[in-house]
Amino acid sequence: MRIYADNAATTKMSRAAIDAMLPCMEEQYGNPSSLYALGQRAKEILEKSREEVAAVIGASPREIIFTSGGSEADNQAIRSAAASGRKQGKTHIISTAFEHHAVLHTLEALEREGFTVTLLPVHENGVVRTEELVSAIRDDTCLVSVMYANNEIGTIQPIREIGAICRERGVLFHTDAVQAVGHIPVDVDRDNVDLLSASAHKFGGPKGIGFLYARKGVRLTSLIEGGAQERGKRAGTENVAAAAGMAAALTESCSQMAQTASRLIPLRDRIIEGLREIPHSVLNGDEQLRLPSNVNFCFEGIEGESLLLLLDDKGICASSGSACTSGSLDPSHVLLAIGRVHDVAHGSLRLTLGPDATAEEAEYIIRNVKEVVERLRGFSPVWRDLSSGKRPHIL
Ligand SMILES: *Cc1c(COP(=O)(O)O)cnc(C)c1O
Repeated sequence: MRIYADNAATTKMSRAAIDAMLPCMEEQYGNPSSLYALGQRAKEILEKSREEVAAVIGASPREIIFTSGGSEADNQAIRSAAASGRKQGKTHIISTAFEHHAVLHTLEALEREGFTVTLLPVHENGVVRTEELVSAIRDDTCLVSVMYANNEIGTIQPIREIGAICRERGVLFHTDAVQAVGHIPVDVDRDNVDLLSASAHKFGGPKGIGFLYARKGVRLTSLIEGGAQERGKRAGTENVAAAAGMAAALTESCSQMAQTASRLIPLRDRIIEGLREIPHSVLNGDEQLRLPSNVNFCFEGIEGESLLLLLDDKGICASSGSACTSGSLDPSHVLLAIGRVHDVAHGSLRLTLGPDATAEEAEYIIRNVKEVVERLRGFSPVWRDLSSGKRPHIL
């Protein structure tokens, strides 16, 4: 059996996305800025894609700009809000300790440029407390950036309440909604969001494209100078095929969202129940406030990387900590943010189900994770110390 259970890292492209893209490459390959019909046809596809993307999050097409993905959208959202803040003498930004690095590293860069950043704690359940946001907001706060759902532990944040607080205090609110869009209902008006980032390859679209929503009246600064594409906010010839693929994938995943969620939630909960039987293990992140596809555990006495390699031998693609920091020995900042100590954080496993996951696959995952954890513990010196009492158990 081969099971792809790393859908938070990236997804397989949907058939609808591929079908929408092929004609843009084979026939409608014009440059949307060209005046002849071939160019104008590409422009129409681009604008229709923008309308489709806008519709699913309750935005207007003029509020959407296409980017190269979630990272670029995060960078542009935060840099834009910071630039507006600076003009008004406001240089304080609030975010959370477990954001994606696209957010955290942008904030670190801004700190070097004179901004002050407050990172809210996310507590053991991996959820921000709104009362802590209320007390963190200052007169010079120009931006609050809180992710919609966490990419590692899947916890869903109280976005609507956070948005309402920001609105009341006159502070711009950005949300990195890369893990939410296409998976759980997102509506920029209901959620009081001013800026929102999304990425196509997390919901069955192609890699290398995403979008930034910026509410009408919110000023954007451009990260890339050049031509006047994307209303002057993102230079470079538009990737029409990718935009069409993104729109098709998003429309499809949103139209099936409710059914997919109601199928995945019992599978997710079954895997959680099964893995809990492993002694000295813990579920990471709130059990209820989590994405339908996400399971994240820590197992004491093992290394996440070894776990992944053995699971790969069983045909299971999963992830541990953060895939993008491979080569670094630091455990996931997300697991540290929810209070896991280094040793425990190292033994983590993230399984993120795809829309077609089955009950049979869930059982296969449970059986094999149990077996592999036991096997690894069998030759782990740390586990020997833990089980002989030489070292105290943490979990
Ligand atoms: C994947 C991801 C990103 C980055 O998106 P890319 O399109 O890969 O640049 C940003 N934030 C979150 C929460 C993500 O999961």
